[in-house]
Amino acid sequence: MTDLFELHGRTALVTGSTRGIGRALAEGLAAAGCGVVIHGRNAAQASAVASELHDRSGIPTTGASFDVADADAVAAGVARIEAELGAIDVLVNNAGIQRRSALADFPVEWWDEVIATNLTGAFLVAQAVARGMVQRGQGKIVNIGSVQSLLGRPGITPYAASKGGVVMLTKGLCADLAPHGIQVNAIAPGYFITDLTESLAADAQFDAWVRQRTPAGRWGSVDELVGALRFLSSDASNFVNGQTIYVDGGMTAVV
Ligand code: NDP
Repeated sequence: MTDLFELHGRTALVTGSTRGIGRALAEGLAAAGCGVVIHGRNAAQASAVASELHDRSGIPTTGASFDVADADAVAAGVARIEAELGAIDVLVNNAGIQRRSALADFPVEWWDEVIATNLTGAFLVAQAVARGMVQRGQGKIVNIGSVQSLLGRPGITPYAASKGGVVMLTKGLCADLAPHGIQVNAIAPGYFITDLTESLAADAQFDAWVRQRTPAGRWGSVDELVGALRFLSSDASNFVNGQTIYVDGGMTAVV
């Protein structure tokens, strides 16, 4: 019987994979035999991470850099990847940012920046990559949401709005793309220590809150997101579409 989770010979673009969750997701796909494009805004960093991963795994990897919030840069960047590597079989829309402020002082520029990166960026890259997927009649798109797709928190309203949007972006893309044999799903992580959250993890009060609020009693390890991604990137999920899987140690399951 064929392995439903087989990824050998496929190519994935993981946006924002120069570090943190994206890097762990890219490494997890490479460990399953999938070629990966390491991406971020910093071209040198993307190339360095790609060649380090290639040396370690022997899997085809390459670096790519473009700002996901810049429509022209996205179109050119995706076209360059396809010209160099051929089809993008799996897109992981992971690039994201966070801005924190008391509501009264929240600069509108930060609102724009968060929505442009986390929501518009995911739309733009999906739109660009979907063109080839539609032609081939297959493809997998996995958007990275957050527990804030479902739960509000003080001081991060634009982030929560952007991540709530990712859930409906996923459903909208499913409606557009499912008829073409493409699956679009989302993974919503709980709390994981990365550059994005390291200042929170260093705050004893916040750290205690995460441990108390998460039924598993701890922060997640970025490797713990890989299983859901392999499922959603492979034939194992061919009839799963428009869904969001919360990988959060139970946080969104309990009050
Ligand atoms: P990091 O800050 O560690 O990494 C973010 C990545 O995104 C980097 O590779 C960064 O590269 C890239 N990036 C940021 N902005 C852009 C942009 N405009 N264009 C292209 N690339 C960009 O974050 P995490 O790994 O923690 O987060 C990854 C995703 O997971 C985000 O969507 C985040 O919202 C989500 N998430 C994280 C959680 C956590 O606990 N850490 C919890 C829930 C969700 P560069 O700066 O070089 O462009």
